[in-house]
Amino acid sequence: MIGFQTDKQKRLFYSFDLEEHVPQNHLLRGIDRFLDLSDLRQHLAEFYSHTGRPSIAPELMIRMLIIGYSFGIRSERRLCEEVHLNLAYRWFCRLGLEDTVPDHSSFSKNRHGRFRDSDAFRHLFETVLRRCMSEGLVGGEGFAVDASIVKADANRLRSMSSDEFIDWGNPVTSPRAVREYLIALDENNPTGTLPKSISPTDPAARLTGAPGGPAFYAYSTNYLIDLKAGIIVDAEATPAYRTDEVNSTKTMVERVEDRFDMKPERLVGDTAYGTASMLDWMVNDKGIAPHVPVWDKTERDDGTLSRSDFQWNAKANEYRCPEGHALRSNWRPLKNPRSYITKADTIIYRSSQPDCAGCLMKDRCCPNTPFRKIARSIHESARDVARDIAKTAAYQQSRKDRKKVEMLFAHMKRILKLDRLRLRGLSGAQDEFLLAATAQNLRRMAKWLAPIAQGGELIPA
Ligand code: SF4
Repeated sequence: MIGFQTDKQKRLFYSFDLEEHVPQNHLLRGIDRFLDLSDLRQHLAEFYSHTGRPSIAPELMIRMLIIGYSFGIRSERRLCEEVHLNLAYRWFCRLGLEDTVPDHSSFSKNRHGRFRDSDAFRHLFETVLRRCMSEGLVGGEGFAVDASIVKADANRLRSMSSDEFIDWGNPVTSPRAVREYLIALDENNPTGTLPKSISPTDPAARLTGAPGGPAFYAYSTNYLIDLKAGIIVDAEATPAYRTDEVNSTKTMVERVEDRFDMKPERLVGDTAYGTASMLDWMVNDKGIAPHVPVWDKTERDDGTLSRSDFQWNAKANEYRCPEGHALRSNWRPLKNPRSYITKADTIIYRSSQPDCAGCLMKDRCCPNTPFRKIARSIHESARDVARDIAKTAAYQQSRKDRKKVEMLFAHMKRILKLDRLRLRGLSGAQDEFLLAATAQNLRRMAKWLAPIAQGGELIPA
């Protein structure tokens, strides 16, 4: 028999407890267990006025943002609607059934004002990271670093050439991303030399062709992760330039050392991090083992001798060629000693012309020049350390471990849907990347630790 929906008289009172309607194994319960916002109010106190209308509670703002970044709800308007309609989201935000959800425009205004000024998102990220550490998820022995390009909210078709005059308008009323860019320009352009194309809506974003296809404006997110459980120990936004990405590693490693007194024994990265100066910083400045392929362009593939065919003798400060002859940086003692260091931070070692003139190997060594030259980086000893490490079994393991950071980027883009930024400017990108990293650490704690306590699997959101 087909049933009917009974048209009963409406009840006047309902007894309803949100707590009972959120499943025990809901992901948000796991996240809630590891989220501690007890000192957020104190951190923000000096950025709020003591008079006037009360603002939206900062704890509510942060809880809503964590929902947005944990479940890939990218639009602030949709986030406010979802929190209004979803019982689990209301429970996580500590909102009762009849409590009002903030309007999306006041939510947006609060988020970009005091939170950015007070660096609240970094405070939140570090609070969550401390919890990861106290739960034993951070080993501190090995870190991995990598960068990933994320599209900026800027249209390539509206590009302007940096050679032409760009009217930025009134600096007071111009958009925040433009104001920040102009301030950065005044402060000696911290994002490097001026690019050929500039987006008038987000001038700090950089036009990039990676990973193929038409060029687009982008920023890079840089992750430094601990290899024990793949916890992100720092995140930094940079323009989508390789040099900026590599340099951000130093910022992140030193910040983690400074804030958490934690320095890794090994640092794993791809070839981009294997430049001579970077390896020198790891080996000689920080005492970190570089599990990084050496950036080396000296191997020749035209059949002539490569630099690796020459033997280095550190004591004599010379190379020896396969014929046993010396290549030196100075053949004659000078009255005024010179460093011989070139602008490219190398020292040139030359063979003796008379040695080469009668050599049987000349056609394979220096067919077009009267003698052979080898450019040796002043950081070559650090490169040699990296080359030695690359022969070990630990290095092979590090190659596999490096996938953890790539998986975090894939998760960020596919699950958290952060494949295009919604906020403009470098500080907007920084906010988004920090919140995504915070959400990823919270999700990881919830998934790794909560099932143990609850005796079951978490259900997807
Ligand atoms: S050409 Fe000169 S540098 Fe090259 S192998 Fe012969 S002697 Fe040595």
